[in-house]
Amino acid sequence: MRRIYLDHAATTPTHPEVVKAMLPYFADSFGNPSSIYSYGQEARGAMEEARIKVAELIGARSEEIIFTSGGTEADNFALKGVVDASEHKGNHIITTSIEHHAVLEVCRFLERRGFEITYLPVNEYGLVDPDDVRKAITDKTILITVMHASNEVGTIEPVEEIGKIAREADVYFHTDAVQTVGHIPVNVDKLGVDLLSISAHKLYGPKGVGALYVRKGTKLVPLMHGGEQEKRRRAGTENVPSIVGLGKAVELAGQEIDKEIEQLAGLRDRLIKGLMERIDHIRLNGHPNKRLPNNINVSVDFVEGESMILNLDLEGICASTGSACSSASLEPSHVLLALGLSPEEAHGSLRFTLGRENTEADVERVLEVLPGIVAKLRTMSPLLKTQK
Ligand SMILES: *Cc1c(COP(=O)(O)O)cnc(C)c1O
Repeated sequence: MRRIYLDHAATTPTHPEVVKAMLPYFADSFGNPSSIYSYGQEARGAMEEARIKVAELIGARSEEIIFTSGGTEADNFALKGVVDASEHKGNHIITTSIEHHAVLEVCRFLERRGFEITYLPVNEYGLVDPDDVRKAITDKTILITVMHASNEVGTIEPVEEIGKIAREADVYFHTDAVQTVGHIPVNVDKLGVDLLSISAHKLYGPKGVGALYVRKGTKLVPLMHGGEQEKRRRAGTENVPSIVGLGKAVELAGQEIDKEIEQLAGLRDRLIKGLMERIDHIRLNGHPNKRLPNNINVSVDFVEGESMILNLDLEGICASTGSACSSASLEPSHVLLALGLSPEEAHGSLRFTLGRENTEADVERVLEVLPGIVAKLRTMSPLLKTQK
C-alpha cells in the first residue's frame, strides 16, 4: 500500500540532498571544529557556511545565529536566557494560550520560580490581538513571546504589529518560528523580533538540530555551560553533520519557497473544500486565510479523532488529532480549547499538514476514504446517540 504522509507539522522527511550533504561529516571530515589543524578547520568551515545560510534565509547576520539541539532548546534558551539576564529589570512575561509546549512549559516552570506570566487569549480563529499585548505590558515586563504560526491550527499571528509594540515599549520580543521558517517568508527585521526559534526537522532537515536567532546586543545567559563553543553562548562540541544538514535544508527551502507555497495552498484549499462538500457536521478550525499554506484542521462532530486517525492509518494515510487519547495526557489540545471549541469538538479534530512530496492524488485519496470512515464511525458512535 502506498503511504500518504500528511503530518508535516510533526516532522518532515529528510531531503535526500540533505542526507548527502551530511554524510562526509560523519567519517571523512569528522574533525572537531575547535581543533586548529586542518581536519578541524574543515569541519568549522562547513559549520560556518551553514550559519551563513541560516542567517541569509531570515535576513540576519551570521554571528546572530546560535546552533541548538532543536526547536525545544531554542525556545528554552530564549526564555530562560532572557529572564536570567533581565531579572533585575522585572519579572513579567507576556505570552499566549496557544504556544507550543516548548514555550508554555517553560513559562509554567518560570511561574514556579516566581515570575508572573500573562497568557493572552486568542479569538475564535486563533489570532492574538496586538492591542491585548500593548495593554498587558507593565514596567516589570521583560519579555514578550508569541509564536509566528500555530503548529496545530496553522493561524499566522500578527507578529509584525506586536514587534512594533515591543520595540516602542523597549521589551525583548521572541517568536517561535519553527512552523514558518522555510515555509513562508520570514525576516527578523520586518517582524521586529529580538529572538527567533528554528528547528531543522520541520523543514526537511535532520532531527535534533535547530537554531536560535539572537539580535546583536540582546542580553542572554547561556543554558549550557562548559567549553567556549558558539562564542561562549552554547557550550558543547557542535553537532557538525546535523548543522551541515540544517544549512542544506535551509538553502533548499529558500530556493523552493515560492513554488511550495503555491503548490501547497492549492492542495490545502482543495482538501478543505472537498471535506466540506462530502462530510456534514464538519468545521474548519483556525483562520480561513491567515493560515499556513500546508495546514488543514477540521472538527468532525460525533466521532473521535483517534478513531479517524487509526482508520486512516489502515488506508496508509498519516494525519493527527488534537483529541486526548492520541497523546500521553488526557486533556484535549489546549490550542483548540483556547479557540473556544468544546472538549467534544476538540476530540473530533483532525489535522492534515501537507508537504513537498504531496500531490493531488493524495488529496483525492483522503476525500475518497474519509467520508466512509466518518459514516462508519458515526453508526457506532455513543456521541451521536447521546445527541439524539
Ligand atoms: C516541533 C515544534 C517545536 C519543537 O521543536 P523540536 O525541534 O522538535 O524540539 C517547537 N515549536 C513548534 C511550533 C513546533 O512545531
